[in-house]
Amino acid sequence: MSEDRGVVGFTENLLTILDEGRFTATYKFAVLLGLMDLCLERSTESGSAPTSVTTVQLAEKIVSLYWTHVEEFDLGDQKVVLTQNNTGQAEIVSLIRDYRSRARLGPGALLTEAKLADGEGFKALLRNVEWKLVEMPLPRLQLVGTGALPFIYQIGWDESISKREFNGPDFHNTLTFIANAGDHLVQLAGLLRPIIQARWVTLVQQFNREHLRDSHVAEFLFGVDRTATLRLLPDLRELQDNRCFYCDSRVTAHPEIDHFIPWARYPDNGIDNLVVAHDRCNGAKKAFLACSDHVRHWAEKLRRDTSDLAAIAQKKSWARHPERTLGVARGIYFNLPPDAKLWRAGRLFAHPERAVLTSAFNLAVPRS
Ligand SMILES: [Zn+2]
Repeated sequence: MSEDRGVVGFTENLLTILDEGRFTATYKFAVLLGLMDLCLERSTESGSAPTSVTTVQLAEKIVSLYWTHVEEFDLGDQKVVLTQNNTGQAEIVSLIRDYRSRARLGPGALLTEAKLADGEGFKALLRNVEWKLVEMPLPRLQLVGTGALPFIYQIGWDESISKREFNGPDFHNTLTFIANAGDHLVQLAGLLRPIIQARWVTLVQQFNREHLRDSHVAEFLFGVDRTATLRLLPDLRELQDNRCFYCDSRVTAHPEIDHFIPWARYPDNGIDNLVVAHDRCNGAKKAFLACSDHVRHWAEKLRRDTSDLAAIAQKKSWARHPERTLGVARGIYFNLPPDAKLWRAGRLFAHPERAVLTSAFNLAVPRS
């Protein structure tokens, strides 16, 4: 059952488990997006996925995925916390909400601020979320009907695991990817992410249908918070000497903050992924990947500005994780087909240039 049937077989199986109705919460989608992000972030020098990840790493991703979902959703006449389960609230959502209220974190609190607010409490939150993942979705995700369909990962426990076993010395927290599943997740991330997000949105709409008439639910769950990034604009603009990252001419009116790796490809608000650009350059780039020369320029900038970026991130309590940001970039760029179209300027596109990309990533901050 677990042999590799190539990327088409992998995709078929994935679509099958997305349709499987066994889940009463949105965890399935969170786990899939979390695994995809971990594979991108931890890609090797050549852009291959890691062979395994741990439940600890996954718990951290899951908390970051749900972090903004637990905020109140504005319906105009009232505000509600969206339900992510068909009976009551999903436990992981409740755990995050409880932590946020205990740590006195107000609306819009960033994850970076949350970790600082109560380090021990945050660790406990991660541990509780990890147990929920071990207990619920991980042993069930690859079940279809009455049978098992293991094609993404193997784990050393099943649905009968107890909390005592989880806390015991014999528990191995590894998810080992089956065959090329990790690489498939990296290669297909651009396609699968919007599909998984759309399914997640649909389920949340079903769970909350008594509240939701129209919706900007998709925007609320997965959109970019542009007001939050605006607080970095003055500092990033100064750091770029008031020049547009893409065309290098001066920015006079309407500067914008662009996500270098597009948000639709991988939602990364880390400061290393943010560049200042003209509204017209940003508008032309849209959700395209930038061309190899821009990647080289970006890598040079990250190396040159590393201490300045660190200082701005600290001053603004903003997330910074250059290794992860670069890992994602490598995972995406090294898996592009040779005839991919990458945005250069205006309506100009270019194919990837492997040599330029390789030297750019060699130049960038080394992995520890
Ligand atoms: Zn420009």
